Amino acid sequence: FESGESKDQCASDLTVEHSGTSKPKPDPSSLVFGKHFSDHMLTVHWSQQEGWGAPQITPFQNLSLHPASSALHYSIELFEGMKAFRGDDKHVRLFRPMLNMERMHRSAERSCLPLFDKAELLECIRRLVELDQEWVPYSCDASLYIRPTFIGTEPSLGVSRACHALLFVIVGPVGPYFATGSFNPVSLLADPKYVRAWRGGVGEFKIGGNYGPTIAVQHEANKLGCQQVLWLYGEQEEITEVGTMNIFIYWTTKDGGRELVTPPLDGIILPGVTRQSLLDLARQWGEFKVTERTVRMKELLAALDSGRVLEVFGSGTACVVCPVGSLLYRGKTYNIPTMKNGPHLAKRFYKELTDIQYGRVGSDWTMLV
Ligand code: PMP
Repeated sequence: FESGESKDQCASDLTVEHSGTSKPKPDPSSLVFGKHFSDHMLTVHWSQQEGWGAPQITPFQNLSLHPASSALHYSIELFEGMKAFRGDDKHVRLFRPMLNMERMHRSAERSCLPLFDKAELLECIRRLVELDQEWVPYSCDASLYIRPTFIGTEPSLGVSRACHALLFVIVGPVGPYFATGSFNPVSLLADPKYVRAWRGGVGEFKIGGNYGPTIAVQHEANKLGCQQVLWLYGEQEEITEVGTMNIFIYWTTKDGGRELVTPPLDGIILPGVTRQSLLDLARQWGEFKVTERTVRMKELLAALDSGRVLEVFGSGTACVVCPVGSLLYRGKTYNIPTMKNGPHLAKRFYKELTDIQYGRVGSDWTMLV
């Protein structure tokens, strides 16, 4: 399992304890995100003394943790979010899973948790999904959500590197983000007094500490009648992300050309797998300018004012793309004409990505389970 160690340590050491019975599966039409889990889970223990233990697939069960475990006190915790899709041909596919493994590896490094062999972990995840494959919904808009998690289990209150750690993976069916046939726009609260991440910080890593503190801001947005938060940064009010999605703006530039813009990966942006995929697709099409650069709030408002904004949308594993319909900023609501403009680009991205994910179009972005 360890980087650079013999490959035999992971996949071939994997032990499987079957659950015996299978829990009843929820109806795909009534799935609530993150509430249903499959029959099995993957766990791998690590300790400084013994290194990585053999990966184990066991029946889904509670963890037993020392109350001083460092994950519980200092948030030595990181996670990933990825999906397995049941194709029209009934085969199960993962979407660019190595990008998740690479992001998880970077999060582990930043958290001072032990490094792992990305290909070996992916093979263990593939085995878990293969075993619980009946949990991948037979539906072309639901999927199996995969949550790899890595926590420090050091049984000591010292603020120091964890010498004990636990990597585990749980999976469960999730429904479509949008009810079938609809593509609902979200309203955003943009309040510069709240900051999600800052330069020199850890915003580019998928670690628990980045998420807990956002819940109160999300709650504040809801109280003001907004669905999600538009995260701004710094005195220039740089536009960074939307809720737990990357943000894209498609507009007409001042010189009349079409451009798709998203903030650059400069440390305060989570490097989304969907973000990367949309950039790759758009660059492949070569039909308009594709730019990774900082956009300030002032610039977006000026473009809205002069009618140059075509579409604003978020991107993420949960929804693929999510249109933005309005913005509440300094007490004023700004309407964004995303829906009025189709949204042609957002819909095209949605179709292209889901065609790949559900195997309607062959692609080396998918991995068969
Ligand atoms: N930004 C943040 C802050 C996120 O948590 C996520 C979800 N991982 C994303 C963007 C989108 O990333 P992905 O496309 O990999 O789901």
